[in-house]
Amino acid sequence: MQAQGYIADTYRRFPVTLVRGAGTRVWDDMGREYLDFVAGIAVCSLGHCNPQVIKAAQAQLERLVHVSNLYSSQPQMELAALLCRHSFADRVFFCNSGTEAVESAIKLARRRGHNLHGPDCYEIICLEGSFHGRTLASLSATGQPVYQRGFEPMMPGFKHVPLNNPHALKRGVTCRTCAILLEPIQGEGGVRIATDEFLQTARDLCDEHDLLLMFDEVQVGMGRTGSLFAYEQTPVTPDVMCLAKALGNGLPIGAMLAGETTMSHLTPGSHASTFGGNPVACAAAVEVVKTMLSNGFLQRIREHGDYLQQGLTAIAAQHSDKVKEVRGRGLIQAMEFHNPMPDLALKLLERGILAILSHDTVLRLIPPLVITRDEIDLLLKTLQEIL
Ligand SMILES: *Cc1c(COP(=O)(O)O)cnc(C)c1O
Repeated sequence: MQAQGYIADTYRRFPVTLVRGAGTRVWDDMGREYLDFVAGIAVCSLGHCNPQVIKAAQAQLERLVHVSNLYSSQPQMELAALLCRHSFADRVFFCNSGTEAVESAIKLARRRGHNLHGPDCYEIICLEGSFHGRTLASLSATGQPVYQRGFEPMMPGFKHVPLNNPHALKRGVTCRTCAILLEPIQGEGGVRIATDEFLQTARDLCDEHDLLLMFDEVQVGMGRTGSLFAYEQTPVTPDVMCLAKALGNGLPIGAMLAGETTMSHLTPGSHASTFGGNPVACAAAVEVVKTMLSNGFLQRIREHGDYLQQGLTAIAAQHSDKVKEVRGRGLIQAMEFHNPMPDLALKLLERGILAILSHDTVLRLIPPLVITRDEIDLLLKTLQEIL
C-alpha cells in the first residue's frame, strides 16, 4: 500500500500488510495465511481476536469508554485486585505501555530514595543488554547503546553492569543507589536468562542497602514463562514489577505494581496518566488474567515450552555448525546462531510463519500462548528445512 509513505520511517517493516487475525493465525491483504510466532511481540497471548476478551471489551465499550482518574472506575479496581491477589503486590499504578510502566517504577524509586535517604539517593543500577523502552528515562535505563545513539545526553542516574556477574553488581552499589532494575529474562536483548545466583545477589544487596528490587516483566510476565509472573520461577520476589504487553491481549495497558509501604511514596498528585487504566483496556485485562489463572492454562505453557525447546535442541544438534545455543523458559524460546542470519525471518515469512530475530543472531520465538503441538511441529519442520 502506497499510503505507507505517510508514516514516519522508524521501523524496518516486513513487506506485508496484516488485515485480520484469529487465534494463532493472521492474514495479509492478499489473503495469505501466516502462523504467528511473534504475537505482536508477546502481546496477543490468548490469540488474536480472542472471543472472551472481545466480549468483555465490547460490553465495557458500550457502557463507559473513559473516565478521568479523578474518579473511580470499576474495571480498574477489579483488575488491580486480581493482580494484587495473585502477586506480591498491594497496589497498582496503571498506565498505557511498557515504557510508561518502567518510567513509573523509576519515579517511584527516586521518590522513595529522596524521602528515605536524601536528594543524592537517585541512582538505579541496570544491566547491559537490557531493554526498558524508548522514552528518555527508560531509554537511559536500557543497556544497549545502539538505541541511545543520537539522543544523548542520556538522563543521569543510571549505571550499567554485566548480566550474571554478582561481583560487578556488588561493586555497582554506592550510597547514591536507590534501586536495581532488571528483566528476569532479557527479551529484546536476545532471551538471556538471569541466573538464580545473580538474582539472589540482587535481592540480598537490596535488603542490605535498603534498595528497591524492580523487575521489568513487561515481556516475560503474564504467563509467558509458564507462571503468571516470571519471578515466581526464580528464588526471589521483587519489590516493584512492571507489566504491559500481554496484559490487555492487544489493548494498550501498562501497570506498575508494588507493596503498600513502597507505593506509599507516590502520594496524590505526584504521578498521573490521562488514559492509564482505561476502563475498556482494564475490562479486557480482567478477562486475560482470569483466563490465565483458569485450570491447566499455565501448566500447558510449560509443557508446550518444553516441547518447543526439545525440538529446537534437536535441530541445533544437527546444525551445530550454525547454531550456538538454544535457551528459554515456557513459551519464550530462542535459537542463537554463530553468525548473523539477516534473511531468516524473511525466509520464514515466505513459508507462512511470522518470527523475529534479536540483533540478527538470535531467533526469538514468542507465539500466542494458545499455540498447539501441531503448530510447533510446523515451525520446527520449516526451520529445519531452511537451515
Ligand atoms: C517491550 C518492552 C518494553 C517497552 O514497552 P512498550 O509498550 O513498547 O513501551 C519495556 N520493557 C521490556 C522488557 C519490553 O520487552
